Amino acid sequence: MADSGGGHRSAAVSLAEALEGRARGVFVNLLDEHAPFPLNHLSALYGPLVNRAPWLYHAIYQASASRRRLALLEDAAYPWVQGRITAALVAEQPDLVINVHPMQNALPLRSLRGAGNRAPFVTVVTDPVSPSMAWFYPAVDLCVVATDAARRVALTAGMDPSRVVVIGLPVRRAFAAARGRLKPAGRASLGLPPERPLVLLTGGGAGIGRLPVLARAIARRLAQAHIPTQMAIIAGHNQPLQQHLQAEPWPLPVTVLGFVDAMADWLAAADLLITKAGPGTLAEAACVGVPVLVTGFIPGQEAGNVTWVESSGMGIFADQPDRAAALVAEWFAPGDPTLARMAAHAAAAAQPDAAERIVCAALALLPDRSDTVTCTAHPAPTCQDQVLTS
Ligand code: UDP
Repeated sequence: MADSGGGHRSAAVSLAEALEGRARGVFVNLLDEHAPFPLNHLSALYGPLVNRAPWLYHAIYQASASRRRLALLEDAAYPWVQGRITAALVAEQPDLVINVHPMQNALPLRSLRGAGNRAPFVTVVTDPVSPSMAWFYPAVDLCVVATDAARRVALTAGMDPSRVVVIGLPVRRAFAAARGRLKPAGRASLGLPPERPLVLLTGGGAGIGRLPVLARAIARRLAQAHIPTQMAIIAGHNQPLQQHLQAEPWPLPVTVLGFVDAMADWLAAADLLITKAGPGTLAEAACVGVPVLVTGFIPGQEAGNVTWVESSGMGIFADQPDRAAALVAEWFAPGDPTLARMAAHAAAAAQPDAAERIVCAALALLPDRSDTVTCTAHPAPTCQDQVLTS
């Protein structure tokens, strides 16, 4: 995995949770902790780059839209990174490798095989609808995608159809546990006024998007309409954003936070989530049954997520702050049925057992496991294997 945004780490954690009792999971952050300079700084650049130069990020996405071009890049980078990657991976002597990052396919797999390790290599694609081609390296043993649209991209990239399975986006178990929790109790447990409906704003792990201008417009509109609500804004790892928001005078109760570990509790307490189209966050909102107002997306990789939200009925896209604020005020007006309807669609779109099913499919690749691993919600523990989530 790697810490560009928060979604890759969340996916890795969800898979490690699903492995518990069946295999020993080890996290290896190849990009941030083992790649040579300047590759080891790419994750730190993700938030600032997407916030300040989304056009450049999109250009990179488009430049990687050809498997042939990617192969040239991979060939050029391999001699440079291979030594460090091999050392980090082979030291763990994995029986199975599960990768959740598009930049950690080709080079780790080549390094592993070059060192004589034949452990099955599985890629779990965490961009559910419009993934970059970089996710798809034909030599992997199994590639897990979330939708038929992503599978089509995989096949365009030259993947063997028998190695691409559609399962879903893995979500940490806290989100499944939070399904159906009563919102006033959830708010009270977070120290919030329990009876005031909660609007939750996030921008992924890196605090991406125009959160101040959106939050200001929404707060003003709700206060003007005398709708007794409250807001919580989670700035993730974006500390300047957090400080900026904490210094604002707000016309209604607003809680501003940095990175929170208990995201499931915040979602379970919320009546509406306002976010960029981050795949992890959207899958978690579906899992908890929270409707979503999507106010932005990272060009390329998150564009398809907007369509997914709207077609599932769990939310709406509105990127203009005034329009977003008007919708929020309309939905929280007494008697408006929209939030309840979207919440039901969100719950219907949830795949709380995706991590479990992915782990079952991955463990079935182990030579002596194919007949012992069954894909049920709570399979009994079987043997102990060493699994790397890279
Ligand atoms: N997240 C979190 N705490 C925070 C902010 C984000 O745990 O304070 C998690 C969130 O629950 C989700 C992930 O970070 O699992 C964000 O992933 P997403 O795919 O939505 O966007 P990314 O950050 O990767 O761009």
